[in-house]
Amino acid sequence: MTTLTEHSSAPGTGGTTNAAVARSLNKTYGTGDTAVRALTNVDVSFEAGTFTAIMGPSGSGKSTLMHCLAGLDTADSGRIWIGQTEITALKDAELTRLRRDSVGFVFQSFNLVPTLTAEQNITLPVALANGTVDDGWLDYITGTLGLTGRLKHRPHELSGGQQQRVAVARALLTRPHVVFGDEPTGNLDSKAGAEVLSLLRRSTRELGQSIIMVTHDPLAASYADRVVLMNDGALVGELSSPTPDTVTAALTKLGA
Ligand code: ADP
Repeated sequence: MTTLTEHSSAPGTGGTTNAAVARSLNKTYGTGDTAVRALTNVDVSFEAGTFTAIMGPSGSGKSTLMHCLAGLDTADSGRIWIGQTEITALKDAELTRLRRDSVGFVFQSFNLVPTLTAEQNITLPVALANGTVDDGWLDYITGTLGLTGRLKHRPHELSGGQQQRVAVARALLTRPHVVFGDEPTGNLDSKAGAEVLSLLRRSTRELGQSIIMVTHDPLAASYADRVVLMNDGALVGELSSPTPDTVTAALTKLGA
C-alpha cells in the first residue's frame, strides 16, 4: 500500500479523485498565554466535482481551514494538495502561480471593478496573467449563468445577484481545480442567494467544478452535496445530502 508520505499527489479514495486534501493540519495564532489553536490535526478530503460546505460555530476554524487550503495562509504543520499538487511543498512564486491558475474565489463582497463591463471583469484575471480567453468556454459559462445579455453592462447596472454571478463566472473561467466561496450569498437577498447557490450546484453537475464554501447559513449549506462540521479547530463530523433541518440539528448539537 502506498502511504501518504510516499505520495506526491492528492490521494483519491475508492477510485475517485480529490480536488483538495488536507492531512494533519495544525495552526496556532499567537504565542504563550494568548495562543489560539485555530486548527488541530485536521484531516479532510474534497472529492472532485462535488460541492462541500464547511460549517461550525463562530471561531471554530472554518476561515482558517479555507485560507490554508486555498494557499492564502500557511499552516504550522501538515500537508495540503490542490489537485495533484502538494501546495505545502511549493515556493512562494509557484504558490502564487497555482493560486492564479488552479484556484477560484467567490467572496461575500463581489469585488468587481466598477469601471469595467461584466465581460471585462470576468476575463480580467486571464488578461492580467497574459493568458488567452477560451471564447467558447466563456460563452458556455456565461450562458449557464444566465449572463449572456448582461456582458456589456457595468456592475452598477446589475443587481446584486447578477454581480455575484459575474464573480462566479470570473472564478470558473480558468477551469480551476477548486472554487472557494466565503459566504458567497452573505450580501444577497434570499431569492438572489438561492439563484447563486443553484448555479454553484449546477457548475458541479454540468461543468465538473469542485466547490468548497464556508457558510453559517443552513439553507445555503443545503445546496451542497456534503457538509463538514468544525468545532474548536477540529473536524467533528459531516453530513451527506444535507437539508436545512439536518444541518440546523447538527449545529445545535455543537452549541452553534
Ligand atoms: P471561523 O471562520 O470558524 O469563525 P476562524 O478560522 O476565523 O474561525 O478563527 C479560528 C480561531 O482563530 C478563532 O479563535 C479566532 O479568534 C482565531 N484567529 C483567527 N484569525 C486570527 C488572527 N489573525 N490572529 C489571532 N487569532 C486569530
